[in-house]
Amino acid sequence: MKYQTAVYRTTTKRTKRRRLLPLLAVLFVAAAFLYFFHPRLLLTFGKPDSPPPGDNGTKLPPEEPVDAPPPPPEQEDPKAEDPSPVEEPPAVQEPQDILPPGDDLPVIADGDYLLALVTKKTTLGDYEPADLVEIPRELWANDYPYKLRKEACEHLLVMWEAAQNDGFSFLVTSAYRSYSTQERLFANYAAAHGEEKANTFSARAGQSEHQLGTTVDLVVPGHSLSDSFGETDIGKWLAENSWKYGFVLSYPKGSTEITGYIYEPWHFRYIGVENAAAWREAGVTLTEWLMEQPQEWKD
Ligand SMILES: [Zn+2]
Repeated sequence: MKYQTAVYRTTTKRTKRRRLLPLLAVLFVAAAFLYFFHPRLLLTFGKPDSPPPGDNGTKLPPEEPVDAPPPPPEQEDPKAEDPSPVEEPPAVQEPQDILPPGDDLPVIADGDYLLALVTKKTTLGDYEPADLVEIPRELWANDYPYKLRKEACEHLLVMWEAAQNDGFSFLVTSAYRSYSTQERLFANYAAAHGEEKANTFSARAGQSEHQLGTTVDLVVPGHSLSDSFGETDIGKWLAENSWKYGFVLSYPKGSTEITGYIYEPWHFRYIGVENAAAWREAGVTLTEWLMEQPQEWKD
């Protein structure tokens, strides 16, 4: 009996194995098929954090420069010389006292006005410049058709040529940004860093000088946006000379209490050559100087 049972069991096992083999073969073929024909599917399973297919790689959104914003990790650097803007939310409230009064944000009447006061306490609404032109390709930091208002673009070129003549160079990594682009950009930062912190290095929609079409973020060729830009040769050259071409550094070091933004050595706004000379003479931040200039608001 024992012998028979043993033989029976062995036979049963063999039979089961025989039945399993085709099943395993089918599974193997299916896995191989998935691997070769749907590598993205397997990749997604393997890396839950990786962006969805299509986000990384070839498809650039046609209306938006991808690397326009400042890299947030550098802003978190504790060894930054600036008094930390991140730890001091009350400081940001100070400009309130000297800005135009009113319960609601004053809406800038004319975004074309070169001296429009763009701050966290004002808004451009959905202003769009009417005279945007494409910046010449040789100034692009990325394969993206950056745009500026005509006059700002012309002066940017003159400044670029002057820098070249002095042995320096820069590229444009961000220029005009529409209300909706800024809205999307800020939403991304707010999701990653929280709204309050995001607003120390990125403007809310309607409050970005980039919406004016007169403002650029500049980089050293071959590099991306960095807060060490101010220490580079071209960063120093620009800080000293940009006013001659009508461009002003909007957020200089140590001015967070006035501007509400961190030090942005790459961010230059065109206000006109004569205006820039007058601003320089005044020896104050651009925000303070613009507050002294005539401003008009929508009703
Ligand atoms: Zn900028």
